[in-house]
Amino acid sequence: MHDAFGEELARWQHVETVVRGVLERYGYREIRTPAVEKVEVFKAVGDATDIVEKQMFLLQAPGPEAAGSDVRPEKDLMCLRPEGTAGFVRAVVEHNLGANGALGRYYYALPMFRYERPQKGRLRQFHQFGIELVNDATPDADAESIAVMDDVFRAFGLTQYDVRLNSVGCADCRPAYTKLLVAYFEPHRAQLCEQCQKRLDRAPMRLLDCKNETCKALAAKAPKLIDHLDEKCRAHHAGVEATLRAAEVKYVNDPTIVRGLDYYRRTAFEFQSDLLGAQSALGGGGRYDGLAARFGGDVNFTAVGWGMGVERLLIALEASGYFTGKTFATGPVVQLVPIGAEAYAKLLKLSYSLRRRGIGAQIAYAPDKAMKWHMKQADRTAAKFALIAGETELASGVAQLKELATGTQSQVPFAELEDWLLARTPKV
Ligand code: AMP
Repeated sequence: MHDAFGEELARWQHVETVVRGVLERYGYREIRTPAVEKVEVFKAVGDATDIVEKQMFLLQAPGPEAAGSDVRPEKDLMCLRPEGTAGFVRAVVEHNLGANGALGRYYYALPMFRYERPQKGRLRQFHQFGIELVNDATPDADAESIAVMDDVFRAFGLTQYDVRLNSVGCADCRPAYTKLLVAYFEPHRAQLCEQCQKRLDRAPMRLLDCKNETCKALAAKAPKLIDHLDEKCRAHHAGVEATLRAAEVKYVNDPTIVRGLDYYRRTAFEFQSDLLGAQSALGGGGRYDGLAARFGGDVNFTAVGWGMGVERLLIALEASGYFTGKTFATGPVVQLVPIGAEAYAKLLKLSYSLRRRGIGAQIAYAPDKAMKWHMKQADRTAAKFALIAGETELASGVAQLKELATGTQSQVPFAELEDWLLARTPKV
């Protein structure tokens, strides 16, 4: 887990502002779900996924049932959210947001928690942007979601990434394909890594994205789902491809994109970049039409969405040179530099009225310090201007304003100071 502050945090905030702009232009609106959910919410996502099986931080809430007992009921088991979609679907069901086919475009920017082996670009608390498009089952909706992620990277002038597209079929065509896949891998069982031997019985499609070299070599020759889709899934995939071409999104079909979560239907995609070093995925997602039904009740809706790692985006932007020569952490507009006790009293009072007019102002609470010392504080706070006032300025009623980057000096009457500084304050 990681502490963010200073310039790094300022970059992060800048990136977040740009990304929100892209998402909002497409009509996505923010949703914030809690960081803590019941474990069963994620069980609905799929038991056989790495995230649910071994990466969740579990919490035991002391519910009334637990009173007087050390053993807490299973249903009290909560966890820190490891991904965004399950909690989102829970919220849509709970608030009936998808009722009567209501179309919805939502995005989130939230921390996620996974018990990972940490390394560069892989944290235990990381942050994701995500979008979810509810109740539009068309291939155009899938293409839009992919184009939105593409536009996020375009907004930063990032070009060094690939869009990898696949179809993982549907409940009608996947079972027959899975049988083919098991039949293909079964004779090689002994050569597979330990994980994949288990996957062969529980989630055979996960064998296709194993990073182990032997498994990878075997997977390369395995039958491809894209060749075994039923008519509707094939037409859907062709539709996604056509709209991606219309939207001028470059992509490649890649049969290894099966995604770690087993709720996907038809479209699955990943954005990969070699700017990330040890990791490769910037983001990924797909269609998850069947997920809501797994929450029980009679609510169901179709949806397509994705998640993108904010820390990974920051790494890619750094590597691409996006931040070079830019500073995002900004200091106050003005550092007040008093010389002597009388000037200190006047500037201290002024500091409050400046802030209340919307002007960032700082003063060091040290009436006895010399001008040089106060000027040093201006460097520290990275202020744009230093406002210098001593006996002479008080007598003449005119303050000295020094622009610190250029050294340019201006004389401004006290009566005009606030307007002068306000005109030089960045608009938010
Ligand atoms: P996933 O839900 O695993 O598909 O993750 C979506 C995106 O979140 C990935 O493509 C990464 O960019 C990011 N991500 C996933 N896990 C981590 C992690 N442990 N640390 C940092 N970023 C992550």
